[in-house]
Amino acid sequence: MGWIGKHSNLITRDYGSWLFLGEILTEAKLTPDRPHPPHCGTCTRCLEACPTQAIPEPFVVDANRCIAYHTIENRQATLPAEIAPALQGWVAGCDICQDVCPWNQRFAQETDIADFQPYPWHLNTKLTDLATLTPEERDRRFPASALRRISLAMLQRNAKAALRGIDGLEQVEKVTPPKIQHHRHGPRLPPLGEYPSE
Ligand code: SF4
Ligand code: SF4
Repeated sequence: MGWIGKHSNLITRDYGSWLFLGEILTEAKLTPDRPHPPHCGTCTRCLEACPTQAIPEPFVVDANRCIAYHTIENRQATLPAEIAPALQGWVAGCDICQDVCPWNQRFAQETDIADFQPYPWHLNTKLTDLATLTPEERDRRFPASALRRISLAMLQRNAKAALRGIDGLEQVEKVTPPKIQHHRHGPRLPPLGEYPSE
């Protein structure tokens, strides 16, 4: 399919690294493909762009320093002191090392599968909304969403940390949309008329 990039994600020639990987379990005898040659070359963009230096060397991601790990998997009440100020608006995952990858910049393709599109109301969400989200609002805004892996307390923690990270900026910038990896799974989108009104 492709090769493992220096940011440790699979990269393909046709789509870059923004892929949805599937798996088939079978007893059929299959001839494996030859390993794909790597095509990172001398590029080190992902290592240099990571705001928390979570890629200390090619192919090594230190989860203890990774924003994606801390915003999604870290269940502690607070984020580590060295991570919280570096969120750059991210509250669910982080795509910086993939954003800067030339294979994504050149070959990434937007999906035409409706189930992989973000809920429309997420596109208008503000950091301040998430920092004060109620359980009822979470249920309404995150139905059938992979983002439910992030508990309400974690989402509020992440949003508050992101807000503190931009504390020195103007108020208007505090209400800019949070950055969320919009990968969603579950039932198909509800009909348009059933979207929560914003
Ligand atoms: S996901 Fe973000 S924090 Fe993690 S390695 Fe990539 S750029 Fe660094
Ligand atoms: S940014 Fe450069 S080094 Fe990193 S995965 Fe992409 S091509 Fe490889």
